[in-house]
Amino acid sequence: MSNRKVLITGGAGFLGSHLCDRFLKEGYEVICMDNLSTGSAQNIEHLIGNDQFTFVKHDVTNFIHVAGELDLILHFASPASPIDYLEMPIQTLKVGSLGTHKALGLAKAKDARFLLASTSEVYGDPKIHPQKENYWGNVNPIGFRGVYDEAKRFAEAMTMAYHRYHGIETRIVRIFNTYGSRMRIKDGRALPTFMSQALQGKDLTVYGDGSQTRSFTYVDDLIEGIWLLSQSGHAEPVNLGNPQEISILEFAKEIIELTGSDSEIVFKELPKDDPQVRQPDISKAREVLDWEPRFNRKEGLMKTLSYFKNEVAKLNI
Ligand code: UDP
Repeated sequence: MSNRKVLITGGAGFLGSHLCDRFLKEGYEVICMDNLSTGSAQNIEHLIGNDQFTFVKHDVTNFIHVAGELDLILHFASPASPIDYLEMPIQTLKVGSLGTHKALGLAKAKDARFLLASTSEVYGDPKIHPQKENYWGNVNPIGFRGVYDEAKRFAEAMTMAYHRYHGIETRIVRIFNTYGSRMRIKDGRALPTFMSQALQGKDLTVYGDGSQTRSFTYVDDLIEGIWLLSQSGHAEPVNLGNPQEISILEFAKEIIELTGSDSEIVFKELPKDDPQVRQPDISKAREVLDWEPRFNRKEGLMKTLSYFKNEVAKLNI
C-alpha cells in the first residue's frame, strides 16, 4: 500500500518547513512547493535525499500540476510578515486569491482534503476581545495591511464556497502570532527583530508606546494543532494560538532579560492599522481537537534562543 501523499504550498517557509517535518514523521509522502520568495532552501535542506520528500519550485498563483494521487493539500504559501506584504502587496493579494483558487482546484481534481492557513489578521484591529471564531472582524480594506487581511478573508470565503458547492473536504486554521526556529531574522516581526537586536547589543525598537498586545505561540504547539485539525472532521475555522497575552513593551523587556543583554528600548512610530490587542479564544480548539498549547512563553523563548544565536553569528561572518 502506498503512503498517503500531502502537498504543502509554502513548504520552504517557517511554518511550511515544520509541517514538512511533521507529515514525514507521520508517514506521509511530502511534496513541498515554494517559489522561495520568502521561503528558503535552508529550511528544507535537511530533507533533500529523503525518498519520501520532493521539492518543487513553483509559484502557486499559476496552474499547479501534481502527478498521481493526492490525499491532502496544506495551503501555506504567502508572505506573512508586515514588511513582506508591504514590499510585495500584489503578490500577497495574488497568492491569497489566485493561489488559493488554484490549490482548491487541485483539491477538487484529486478529491483531496484541503487545509487553509488563515490568520488572526482576519479579525483586523478587533473590537471584541479575546477573539472568537464567530467574530467578523474590523479590517481596513484599503490600508497597508489590507492586502494580507483581505486576501486571507477572500481565501476563507473561497474555501467555504468549494466546500459548500463542490463538496470538498476543507479545514481552516486561524493562526495567531507564532515563533520558533526558521523564522527569517530580518522578516521585521517583533520576535526576530527583538531577539537579533538584543543578541547584538542594539536598541530594541518598540513601535508606539508598546501598550499593544499580542499572544505568542511556540511553533511546536501550533504544528500539533494543525496536525490534529488536518485529521479532524471540522470544516469551520478554528483559532490556534496561545492565549497568554503580553504587551509589546513587556515582551521587549522579557527578551532583554532572557538574552542577558544590556540593550535599551527605543520607541518608534506605530505602523498604521497595527492591531491594539490580540488574544485567541481557543475554546473551540479545546473542544473539537482536544488541543491546547503545552509550552508557556518562557519555555518557548528558551527553545528558540539558540536558533537566533546561530543566525546572528552568521551575520557577523
Ligand atoms: N513591533 C515592534 N517593533 C518591531 C517590530 C514589531 O514594536 O521592531 C510591534 C508591531 O508594531 C506589533 C507587534 O510588535 O504591534 C507585533 O508585530 P509583528 O510584526 O510581529 O506581528 P503582527 O503585527 O502581524 O501581529
